Amino acid sequence: MSGQDVLVVGAGLGGLAFAHDAARAGLRVRLLDKARGVSGRAATRRVTLPDGQEAHLDHGARFFTARSDRARALAEGGVRDGWNAVWTLGMARWQAGTVTVPPDGHPRYAPPAGMSTLGRTLARGLDVTTGVTVTSLQRLNATRGGWRVHSREGLYWDAATLILNLPAPQLLTLLATLDPASPAASPAAGPAARHAQGSAGAAQQARLVTYDPCWAAGVMLRHDVSADWSALRPEHPVLEWIAREHTKRRDGAPPSLTLHATPAWSRANLERTPEQVLPDLLAAAQEILGPLDTAQVFAHRWRYAIPAVTAPGPCHWDATLNLGWCGDWFTPDPHGPRVESALLSGWTLARRVTGTA
Ligand SMILES: Cc1cc2nc3c(=O)[nH]c(=O)nc-3n(C[C@H](O)[C@H](O)[C@H](O)COP(=O)(O)OP(=O)(O)OC[C@H]3O[C@@H](n4cnc5c(N)ncnc54)[C@H](O)[C@@H]3O)c2cc1C
Repeated sequence: MSGQDVLVVGAGLGGLAFAHDAARAGLRVRLLDKARGVSGRAATRRVTLPDGQEAHLDHGARFFTARSDRARALAEGGVRDGWNAVWTLGMARWQAGTVTVPPDGHPRYAPPAGMSTLGRTLARGLDVTTGVTVTSLQRLNATRGGWRVHSREGLYWDAATLILNLPAPQLLTLLATLDPASPAASPAAGPAARHAQGSAGAAQQARLVTYDPCWAAGVMLRHDVSADWSALRPEHPVLEWIAREHTKRRDGAPPSLTLHATPAWSRANLERTPEQVLPDLLAAAQEILGPLDTAQVFAHRWRYAIPAVTAPGPCHWDATLNLGWCGDWFTPDPHGPRVESALLSGWTLARRVTGTA
């Protein structure tokens, strides 16, 4: 496969944000992703109903917020261009049968066609190959450098620079495929390594990152529930989130819900199948909402949903190895892991790689 300037493994929002800016700076960038489409955990499932109508459900990221100037410009530009919208200014709460709507005012954005629109918008004009699972990394030449990545499908790609935008455990799995003599593969042991410079220290920090899992369900309804809210945060042992997905969509969208289980329940039920968890998730939803007239359902397990323990700094860049990584598990700002932190991490890494910061 022909050489690129930069290969990015992982076309989630962090990798796309990086690639967008690196390409704009004149680098030849190729993104690789194992999924069928881009956008990673900012994911939308399309469900075709028996009557031919289509429901779009955000079973990963539910919405996004924009605190930084750059993210606000992206979000508000999207509202002006029509691919984005302010979905809600507040979320209702449910506690022991009582629903309250606290005063709010903070815009939560959700594209009317689904959260994956964010990734597809950032990917416009970029060279993206989907449906390829990267299984190993290779340093091409100890002196002249260069990287080769191999995929499960038997393909490989070469580039001078390698960027990894993956959840930390998946990053570590790939780094472990490098020659053990590589500095990126063999982080020094001991607490001092946490503060060490370079890729060995950064890989050590990635080892400390942990994730909350999340079981998500999509529920297509024959009739909408009786409610005056778009999003509900229940205080419940099984569910932490219910969204009336059609309130994000254009008028006439079929009624549907997304349900997200709490981290504790998701962890306790992580190895069950979708068929096994669905009855429990639906029973919890009915406890909160009353009887549901359900037409179709699906469940999706996010093993690495939200980082619970993050890594310091906005991203990692090793100019000696031409190797970097980014993603929502870094801390480019103090507001926690989310869509915006993935974007900020990718944009910061692009500035480091292109020498503009
Ligand atoms: C259930 C849930 C609810 C959430 N709710 C919100 C919310 O309301 N608001 C908010 O702001 N954020 C929310 N988030 C978090 C948000 O989705 C993430 O912070 C953000 O999407 C992370 O982007 P990323 O690019 O860092 O990682 P990812 O999106 O995980 O991107 C990594 C990419 O790497 C690819 N990949 C992995 N391994 C390989 C491999 N070996 N080869 C090739 N490709 C590979 C994956 O397919 C993926 O596309 C939620 C997440 C989940 C799961």
